[in-house]
Amino acid sequence: MKKVAVIGAGTMGNGIAHVFAMNGYDVKLVDISEEALARALDTIAANLDRMVTKGRITAKAKKATLKNIVTSTKIEAIKDRDLVVEAATENVDLKLRIFKEMDANTKKSCILATNTSSISITKIAAVTSRPDKVIGMHFMNPVPVMKLVEVIKGYSTSNAVTKKIMALSKDLGKVPVEVNDYPGFVANRILMPMINEAIITLFEGVAGVEEIDTVMKLGMAHPMGPLQLADFIGLDVCLAILEVLHEGMGNPKYAPCPLLVNMVMAGKLGRKSGEGFYTYVRGSKETKVSRQFA
Ligand code: NAD
Repeated sequence: MKKVAVIGAGTMGNGIAHVFAMNGYDVKLVDISEEALARALDTIAANLDRMVTKGRITAKAKKATLKNIVTSTKIEAIKDRDLVVEAATENVDLKLRIFKEMDANTKKSCILATNTSSISITKIAAVTSRPDKVIGMHFMNPVPVMKLVEVIKGYSTSNAVTKKIMALSKDLGKVPVEVNDYPGFVANRILMPMINEAIITLFEGVAGVEEIDTVMKLGMAHPMGPLQLADFIGLDVCLAILEVLHEGMGNPKYAPCPLLVNMVMAGKLGRKSGEGFYTYVRGSKETKVSRQFA
């Protein structure tokens, strides 16, 4: 499996393409937006430059990595691929449509993977003619840095395909963990209720933004506080995952905090929109607590 494609060239797609290309895979990066593709190549080049500066890779390796990536806005570009990893926007209807296209535009032996944070692998697999070859490959953000790949086995995913994806993830220098397909898988089933509880703690006035984050950073040795992490992930993404957990489990303990719902409705999505629990200035590392909570 040396010929791969990545569908979606956003935050995750560019990182996934970067990691495959750096490990010698021939990568087709596909997006509907030319602009997203150009931005992805710039991001990959900038991230590789940082690795060269830190002495992690040579300038020659950077050049070779970039040479391994070809971009396209056409789904037909994936025709000769052995593996396609979908990393498009987290929207169930969109993903079902893309998987039908992936199924129609690849050879029958091609494995179809998704980087979804929360959508059922089984549901996605069911719209293809090869549910045994559909699997979750949940990379973490930022992909070139984070070691984990949550490998999610759908109801019909074959053991042979799971084994191949576990081995391939190791070949990428990652640590794969095999899990079954239930709402939130493992990572988000545990992380999102913690983030939601931090928001409820703020909503009920138990403590302020910095206080909550400091308790979790210094008390639990978390590298980021839960509210800071929610801003980093995107509050819209957190809300979408909590809704999947709430609906999928039918348990009120997963109900998203009304404050989170309000913030998303107000367009306060965290780092990407410039404001969430903290405010952000593009190009600067400095953050301060949002005026709403100061
Ligand atoms: P993003 O919004 O940064 O990028 C999504 C990209 O998909 C955009 O460039 C968009 O143009 C493209 N796209 C939309 N429709 C398309 C289509 N029909 N064909 C091809 N490309 C299309 O999103 P992201 O944060 O990179 O998330 C991508 C996936 O990864 C989602 O499923 C998300 O849940 C998952 N994920 C995200 C994170 C994270 O921290 N951001 C972490 C793990 C998993």
